[in-house]
Amino acid sequence: MIKRFLHKIFGRKVAPAKLEAHTVPGHTAHKPAKVRGTKKTGKGPLVVQVEEHGIDPKLVSTNAIRVTKGLQDAGFKAFLVGGAVRDLLLGIKPKDFDVATDATPEQIVKLFRRARIIGRRFQLVHVMFGSDTIETSTFRANQPHNAEKDEHGRVLRDNVFGSQLDDAARRDFTVNALFYDPASQVVIDYHHGVADVKAKMMRIIGGPEQRYREDPVRMLRAVRFAAKLGFEIDDATRAPIARLAPLIENVPSARLFDEMLKLFFSGHALACLKRLRAEGLHHGVLPLLDVVLEQPKGERFVTLALESTDERIRIGKPASPSFLFACLLWHEVLKAWEENKTRGDYPIPALNAAMDSVLDAQTEKLAIQRRYASDMREIWGLQPRLERRNGRSPYKLLEHLRFRAGYDFLLLRCEADETDAALGDWWTRFIDADAAGREALQLEAAGAPSSAGAAPNKRKRHRRKPAASKVDTAAGENTGDVIE
Ligand code: ATP
Ligand code: MG
Repeated sequence: MIKRFLHKIFGRKVAPAKLEAHTVPGHTAHKPAKVRGTKKTGKGPLVVQVEEHGIDPKLVSTNAIRVTKGLQDAGFKAFLVGGAVRDLLLGIKPKDFDVATDATPEQIVKLFRRARIIGRRFQLVHVMFGSDTIETSTFRANQPHNAEKDEHGRVLRDNVFGSQLDDAARRDFTVNALFYDPASQVVIDYHHGVADVKAKMMRIIGGPEQRYREDPVRMLRAVRFAAKLGFEIDDATRAPIARLAPLIENVPSARLFDEMLKLFFSGHALACLKRLRAEGLHHGVLPLLDVVLEQPKGERFVTLALESTDERIRIGKPASPSFLFACLLWHEVLKAWEENKTRGDYPIPALNAAMDSVLDAQTEKLAIQRRYASDMREIWGLQPRLERRNGRSPYKLLEHLRFRAGYDFLLLRCEADETDAALGDWWTRFIDADAAGREALQLEAAGAPSSAGAAPNKRKRHRRKPAASKVDTAAGENTGDVIE
């Protein structure tokens, strides 16, 4: 009976005796809250039953179940793992599902019709069902002592398969190290993650300092999950963060950029940013953000931009990274623009030079990819052009590929009291108006005082065609890069 039960949970290949032999290296030294209804097999993991964890099977994707079942039917262990289990425990529908198994990548691909091995350094398998992909990986081990590292202890290469126990220990936080078997509906818990989910606590697995040195991005992940889930960060997990924050600077910028995207598009960007600042982590990540947030006007604008991004994500609307990054850096552009004009540059060349200097400073650190940078330039470059409402100018702008983004950006500027709200309102009416309505609006604009604001639209004396077209040539195709 017991054998059958364990067989059901752990798959056919595992003898129950194996479970009992486990010790948990690097186990976080804390007294976990008690989780009732669990079984502990010797020093092995907690086996948490459905009555206790309460996961609603309806929240589990049928494709993920197909993968675990396919693997289990072939005699392998297979579990849902990571963020999906954490979210299921919280009653949140996971946005994606990862599977962990003791099958090798080659064994996995043989079992599914549409599956392919990806990754060179550490291979994993994408099992595809229509547009849905279930990322399926072989249990792997964290071997910090043998792994290749940089001079600060950052692990450069770790690509060894391991046991399920190893796989739990190599994960970052206790709440991210849970395994769920949809067939038996049990959660396998090596690090008291279920108790930590209940206690709403982010707790790193193993020694915090060593784990952050191995991978400094874990500090950002601690903050992101805490902000997104409304969790606390455990004292020991939190303590070394401020001191080790400079290690973030050694992380390759492309990886940092990916993490920032996750953070800003988590639906809780504002909360994440506040936490980043509270933990002293924002410096190395987005160096100019600190300056921006300390200018009262800049702070309002950035806050509004983050709020609107959060809102879009939460209601399932697409949001564009270039738009958000354009917002975050706008006040830096404004500052440099003003400086360049004071130095005597014409407005449009002054704006182009300002955009260059701000983007250069950021790309060094954050790898803002070229496609984002070109969209950002267009959004910024549209701002002075939106001030011109006479002649063909507004009609041409309506056809501009990035008009919508430029207009949305203008509305945010109005909302932040940076520019006259009447200008945004005028555009809103102009977009909807028929031909006669548009003519009337142009007449109205001709009689209206020029809108106030930071943009140097008032200097209309300098209508230097080549300079204006420099803004135009920044127009790449509308990549429509959005996070959905
Ligand atoms: P999200 O909801 O953002 O997808 P997630 O927990 O699923 O959250 P992923 O980045 O998708 O995060 O990673 C999947 C799992 O892989 C994590 O739950 C964690 O167990 C493990 N993991 C990811 N990044 C790290 C890391 N830097 N160090 C250790 N384990 C990690
Ligand atoms: Mg995930």
